Amino acid sequence: MEEYKSLNFLEQIIEEDLKNGYTQDKLRFRFPPEPNGYLHIGHAKSICLNFGLGLKYNASVNLRFDDTNPAKEEQEYVDSIKADIQWLGFKWDKECYASDYFQQLYDWAILLIEKGLAYVDSQSAELIAQQKGTPTQPGLESPYRTRSVAENLELFEAMKAGKFPNGSHVLRAKIDMASSNMLMRDPFLYRVLHKTHHRTGNNWFIYPMYDWAHGESDYIEQVSHSICTLEFMMHRELYEWFIKQVYDKNVLPLSPKQREFARLNLSYTVMSKRKLLQLVEQKHVSGWNDPRMPTISGLRRRGYTPDAIRKFADTIGVAKRDNIINVSVLEFCIREDLNKKAPRVMAVLDPVKVIITNYPQGQEEWLDAENNQEDESAGYRKVPFSREIFIESEDFLEEANNKFFRLTLGKEVRLKNAYIIKGESVVKNEVGEITEIHVRYDPDSKSGSGTEASLRKVKGTLHWVSVQHALKAEVRLYDRLFTDETPDGHKDKDFLEFINPGSLKVIEAYVEPSLENATTGNQYQFQRIGYFCVDSDSRKDRLVFNKTVGLRDTWAKVNK
Ligand code: ATP
Ligand code: MG
Repeated sequence: MEEYKSLNFLEQIIEEDLKNGYTQDKLRFRFPPEPNGYLHIGHAKSICLNFGLGLKYNASVNLRFDDTNPAKEEQEYVDSIKADIQWLGFKWDKECYASDYFQQLYDWAILLIEKGLAYVDSQSAELIAQQKGTPTQPGLESPYRTRSVAENLELFEAMKAGKFPNGSHVLRAKIDMASSNMLMRDPFLYRVLHKTHHRTGNNWFIYPMYDWAHGESDYIEQVSHSICTLEFMMHRELYEWFIKQVYDKNVLPLSPKQREFARLNLSYTVMSKRKLLQLVEQKHVSGWNDPRMPTISGLRRRGYTPDAIRKFADTIGVAKRDNIINVSVLEFCIREDLNKKAPRVMAVLDPVKVIITNYPQGQEEWLDAENNQEDESAGYRKVPFSREIFIESEDFLEEANNKFFRLTLGKEVRLKNAYIIKGESVVKNEVGEITEIHVRYDPDSKSGSGTEASLRKVKGTLHWVSVQHALKAEVRLYDRLFTDETPDGHKDKDFLEFINPGSLKVIEAYVEPSLENATTGNQYQFQRIGYFCVDSDSRKDRLVFNKTVGLRDTWAKVNK
């Protein structure tokens, strides 16, 4: 039986349109990134939404690069965006570029001039801004508003031909300087910009503004529902106005609809490409794919899976009002996914040596260890056991009360997949630190052997690695990149002031030898600790692991 799920408000709008005569074959969506940075988890939300609608309605979804600002855009970003969408598991229909429409947009601008709906303004941008008025006061009409069509055509062509310097003229729509919607007060269509474009090279000296390019691109591609974030609500009127002026039923019959949803905000991070670029450029992180970044590439390197990210997008749903999603929701999704998929291994992050005094010198045993108790098909592996092992320092207390279920003197605990041991004595160095713990083991208590001794109930089970067999590994432990829940939500403080100085801790750890051939991207549960993945810096003789997430959400508790 299919799981019942109520429609989100965008699906309701589409269903309504279908009822009112829209046929399903007319449905088309798009994801329109500007290639001025790497995609982040907010974009993932929009990708899941648009491509999800495509799958649900069997409609095509275009990938459209909104590449109208050559000052900030690069091919590297185009490539990373494509890789990230594919990694998330989605397929676009057409790969489109707003820059492919530059000629069409230009021709339409000419049409607007000819209809008396656009004019060249030769004032500076500052002056024009001063004339904008306020929401309650109408703006001032530009002295150039009444230029003749012929003069406008001539100037606009000269702008296009590169005859004017940056900032000398703009093309504006002639709409209404008294409109209650400030965006309707003669918005810009074009600016002069002498800059090489990553696709069109030096063909153009004028570039279209976002509002002009975006809506017309949707119209050219015959996108039925153009879904964007709430801050574009006020742009909708302009979006519709622009399309109306060039609408031609015989050539492009469908008039796209813009609809808005709440952007994703996540706690303890920032989510604007401009700010993420700042973190990269100022070297607060190692790059766009630093595992602490909220970028898709950062999350991937951290060990997030496409399934977990899609599940997250689905879990938070589509909202009409802005809110902040707690990052623990995202962490919950990856934990749940990896719990099903990640093989279990033993790793000791903060080792202390344990000597099993009654275990024969030189003996070793290869014990069976279950790879994943959540997945029977995952099978078993062998782990080596010997007289000297490492356990976590925090798993031993010399003197403990009876609520401590780990190793202490005189009490029994089980070593995972191995034997029951009992603490006997400790060896300390001259400053009083424990250097060795001496224990005895019960040879009849081997896990899975079925003996009476093996079935004995002991309260604690510890993970461990055999000293002589263990591999040394670098482990990178991550904490939140910011110490504040809303780092960019403070008027008087820059978000960089909230950078968490302890967001990366690099340690030396010991892992079981089955990890010898672990390669980049492989994921594991380090038992009793959390989920880890092999970093791209890892080498065969120098394993490097990233901590994806702990087994439990400990952060909230510690930081309250
Ligand atoms: P940024 O401010 O991070 O640069 P943007 O909106 O300028 O974001 P675009 O490349 O223009 O980035 O966005 C591409 C698409 O992704 C747009 O449709 C946009 O609405 C959507 N999007 C961007 N950020 C978010 C977010 N936080 N939540 C949901 N959708 C988002
Ligand atoms: Mg943008």
